[in-house]
Amino acid sequence: MIHIDIDGVLIDFIGTAKKFGIEVKTNEFGKWKWSEPPFPSPEEFYAKAELQPWFEPLIFNIIAAGGYFIFLTADFAEIKKRFILEKINNDIIRNSLSKLDFIESDQKSNYCDFPIDMLIDDCAANCEAWRKKGGVAWHFDFASETPFEDFLKYWRR
Ligand SMILES: [Mg+2]
Repeated sequence: MIHIDIDGVLIDFIGTAKKFGIEVKTNEFGKWKWSEPPFPSPEEFYAKAELQPWFEPLIFNIIAAGGYFIFLTADFAEIKKRFILEKINNDIIRNSLSKLDFIESDQKSNYCDFPIDMLIDDCAANCEAWRKKGGVAWHFDFASETPFEDFLKYWRR
């Protein structure tokens, strides 16, 4: 099973934070405090959020490889699911994602049960914990100018 992180990988978290006047540094995690001023509540944040431009191509590439996938996020899975389903233009993708599990866990590596379990995440520490449990992880690294192209180079042979 492929586990796809939501914030960052699929949702433009850094760009959305900017709309609230908050600078989120690349590869810096754990500083965000929901609803503690100046931080918005999840409802306020996802009302202004945007999907990453590669959202649909990323999903299509995983489906093309025959990969089963779920979304795995640290918090507010239901709010993110609602936001994503609202934003998607493609009916086929919306339909298949509406039946999909959006799992919420702040210990993502708990979901690494088999060597074929994969994580795609922009948090290097999450990827490292996943690998320690014996799974495969791709660090979707925003320090790169082209994080999606980097992923495709890795993904497609
Ligand atoms: Mg993330």
